[in-house]
Amino acid sequence: MNTASRSGDRVRVAVIGAGIGGTAMAALLRRIGHNVTVYEQYERFVPAGGGIHLSPNLMRVLRHLDVHRHVLFTGQEPGAFLNRDAVSGETLYGLPLGECAHRRFGAPFVALRRGVLHLALMSTVARDSVQWGKRLAGLDWRGDSIELAFADGSRAAADVVIAADGLRSRVRSILCGHEQPVFSGQVAFRGSYPREGLKGLHVDDLTKWWGDETFVLSYWLDRARRDFYFAAMMPQSTWPSEASFVPADVDEMRAAFRHFHPDVRRMLAGAPPGSVAKWALFERPPRFEFGTGRVILIGDACHPMRPFMSQGAAMALEDAAMLTRAVLGEGDFMRALQTFADARRERLTRVHRVSAANTFMRGETDPQWVFGYDVLSADASARLPA
Ligand code: FAD
Repeated sequence: MNTASRSGDRVRVAVIGAGIGGTAMAALLRRIGHNVTVYEQYERFVPAGGGIHLSPNLMRVLRHLDVHRHVLFTGQEPGAFLNRDAVSGETLYGLPLGECAHRRFGAPFVALRRGVLHLALMSTVARDSVQWGKRLAGLDWRGDSIELAFADGSRAAADVVIAADGLRSRVRSILCGHEQPVFSGQVAFRGSYPREGLKGLHVDDLTKWWGDETFVLSYWLDRARRDFYFAAMMPQSTWPSEASFVPADVDEMRAAFRHFHPDVRRMLAGAPPGSVAKWALFERPPRFEFGTGRVILIGDACHPMRPFMSQGAAMALEDAAMLTRAVLGEGDFMRALQTFADARRERLTRVHRVSAANTFMRGETDPQWVFGYDVLSADASARLPA
C-alpha cells in the first residue's frame, strides 16, 4: 500500500514552516487523525510583522479552529473601510463593516498585530508537534518515503511533505529549481505608535488613502484604539539590501508623502524616529506551484502575491482548510493534491490578479466574492468535522 494513503495516524506528515499557513495546516490535519510534525527554522516563536487584516473569509477558518474569540477580543473591528483620495481627502468608497460585516459576509472583519494572529494559531498546535531550529536544506526521495535534511545536519523521515515555508520556500526551489523572488519595485514604510502620538488628530478606524503610485493604509491594532498603525507604499527602483526590511529614514518617508492630505502628513509626522521600518515587496511571476506526488505547497510558497488586497494570510489559511478537506474526501494525499489544486486555482488566480492591479475598493466595489467566500463549504469533496 502506498504510504501516502496509509490509514489516518500512520501517515507521517512533515509540515515545513510554523508560520501562518503551517500552524493551521498542522492543527487541521491532526484533527482528522494524522501524525503531523512541523519543522521551523527559527529557534523559537517570533511574532514578526506589523498590522494585518483578518477578513471574514479568514475569520471563518479561525472560527473553525476555535481561536476567533481571542483575536476578536484583542483586535479591532473597524466600523467601516474608507477609501479616500490621497490629496483632497474625498471619500471614493466606504464599505460598512462592524455589525454589517457579520450580517453581510457571515463573519467579522478584524484588524490587529500579525503576531497576535500567529500566536493564536500557534495555540492550536500541540507543543510536541513543533520542532524548532530545523531549517530544511534538502529532500531525498527514498522509495515511498521522503528524507528531510536540515541545516543542522539532522535528518527525519516522512511520507508526505507539506511546504508552508513562505516566500523564499526551500521546498519550491528543490522542486522547481532555484529562482529568487524578485523585487517588485515597491516598498512599504510600516510603523505603529501609541495614540498620543497623533496629538489629538481624529483618525477613522480603517482608511486607504489612494494616490497615483503611492498609497497609505491606516488603522488601529487593538480594540481600545491604543496603538495606531500605518503602511505607506511607494515605488523604488532598486532594493540594495539582502534583508527584507531595514530601519526607515522617517524624513525620507515624510518627504515622499508630502503632497498627501494634511491628516496623513500628521499621521506620518507622529511616528518617532526608530519606530518605522522600510519593507521591500517581493513577488514571483503568477505561476502557482501546488507540488507533485507527496510534496504539496501552500500559502506564499505556492502563490506569493503583492499585499494590496491584504489577502496573503487569508489565502494561506484557506489553502490549509481546503487541503484538509481534500485529504479527508480522497483518503489519500496524492489524489488530494489534484483535488486541492483544482479547488484553489481559479480563486487564487483572481485574488493574485486583483492584488497586483491594486484596484480593490478604490471605487464602488462588491467584495462579496472575497469576504463572503466560505472555504469550509465551497466546492470540494468533504466537509470537515466541527
Ligand atoms: P509565513 O507566514 O511567512 O510562514 C513561513 C514560515 O516558514 C516561517 O515561519 C519561516 O520561518 C518558515 N521557513 C522558511 N523557510 C524555512 C526552511 N527552509 N525550513 C523551515 N522553516 C522555514 N496578509 C493578510 O492576510 N493581511 C494583511 O493585512 C497583510 N498585510 C501584509 C503587509 C505586508 C507589507 C506584507 C509584505 C505582507 C502582508 N500580508 C498580509 C501577507 C502575509 O503576512 C503572508 O502572506 C502570510 O504570512 C503567508 O503565510 P505562509 O504560511 O505562507 O508564510
